[in-house]
Amino acid sequence: MKKKVVVFSQIDSTVLAQLEQDYQVVVLNPKQGDINEQIRTEVVDADAMIGAGRLLNENNLAPAQKLKIISTVSVGYDNYDVDYLTKNNIWLANTPHVLTETTADLAFTLLVSAARKVPELDRWTKQGEWKRTVGPAQFGQDVFGKTLGIIGLGNIGAAVARRGFYGFNMNILYHNRREKLELAQPLNARYCGLDELLSQSDFVVVAVDLNPESKALMGQAQFEKMQPHAVFVNIARGSVVDEEALVNALQQKQIFAAGLDVYQKEPLQSSELFNLSNVVTLPHIGSATAETRLKMAKLAYKNLVDALEGKTPQYLVNG
Ligand code: NAP
Repeated sequence: MKKKVVVFSQIDSTVLAQLEQDYQVVVLNPKQGDINEQIRTEVVDADAMIGAGRLLNENNLAPAQKLKIISTVSVGYDNYDVDYLTKNNIWLANTPHVLTETTADLAFTLLVSAARKVPELDRWTKQGEWKRTVGPAQFGQDVFGKTLGIIGLGNIGAAVARRGFYGFNMNILYHNRREKLELAQPLNARYCGLDELLSQSDFVVVAVDLNPESKALMGQAQFEKMQPHAVFVNIARGSVVDEEALVNALQQKQIFAAGLDVYQKEPLQSSELFNLSNVVTLPHIGSATAETRLKMAKLAYKNLVDALEGKTPQYLVNG
C-alpha cells in the first residue's frame, strides 16, 4: 500500500506531481472548510506532511497514528510545537541555506528603500508632485560607509552583513546570544550587547529565528535607544518586534524609517503602519522568487522522501 502524504499548503506543482507518482497524496484546501478539522481528519493515517505557514501542534496533530515526518518548506519553524513532535517521535525537517541569499537581497532592498524613501517618492512622482527640484522633505539617508547592526548573525544575518561590508563599505556590529567568530572575522564585524548595537548603528537589521528569547526583543525601550536618523529592518518574524512600539517610534520620529517584511499577524489586512509614509511594507516575500521557492520545495521533498525511505533527512530540526 502506498504511503500517505498530506500537503497542508500550496506547494510547487512539479514537486506535487512527483509526490503523486509514489504516494497517496491528499491536498488540503482552506476553501473546503476549517483547515484544522481537515488536518485532524487526514492526519490519522498519514505517514508524512509537507507545506508551510500553518500552526501544527497537539491541537491538530493528536489523532496521528503513524506520522513519521513533517517537512516544512521554510527555514523558520516557529509554527511547529517542536517539543510535542519530539515527544511523539515525529521528525521536523526544514530548508536552510537555499533561501539565504535571496532573503538577504530582500533585507537590503528594504534597507535602501527605507533609507532613500523609494516607495514614497515613487508614489509622489506618479501623482505629479514633482513640480520643481526636490528639497529636504524628499532627502533620505546615506548608506555607503555607515554602521550596520545585525541582530542575529546567522546564515541570513551574515549574508546581509556581507552585502553591507563588500558592497557598501559598511562597518558591521552584531548581537547574538553567543559570539560567531567564524562568521564575524571575515567581515571585521564586532560583537556587542543589544543596547550598544542599537545606539551605535545607522541601520539595524533583525535576522534572528523566533524563539522564547527573541520574542518581543525590540520594544519601546529598544527603539528609544536608536538614533533619530536610523533605519530599522525586520525580515525575521513579526513577533520579534512589539509592533505598537514600532508604530509609536515611527510616529514620534524616534527613528527615521522602517522596512518590514513580517508582522505580528499575517496576512496584514489593516494596520497603523499603513498610515505612515516612513515605513516600507512588504507581504512576507523574503524567499519569494521563482528559483528559490523551487529550490526550497525540492529540498523539502528530499527531506520527506528520505524519511519515508528510512534514511535520516539532512536538515532535521529535532534529529
Ligand atoms: P540561523 O542561521 O539559525 O540564524 C539565526 C540567528 O539568530 C542565530 O545566529 C542565532 O544565534 C540568533 N539568535 C537567536 N535568538 C537570538 C536572540 N534572542 N538574540 C540574538 N540573536 C539570536 O537562521 P537563518 O537561516 O539565518 O534564518 C533566520 C530567520 O529568518 C528564520 O528563522 C526565519 O524566521 C526568518 N526568515 C524569514 C524569511 C522571510 O521571508 N522574511 C525568509 C527566511 C527566513 P544564537 O543562537 O547564538 O543567538
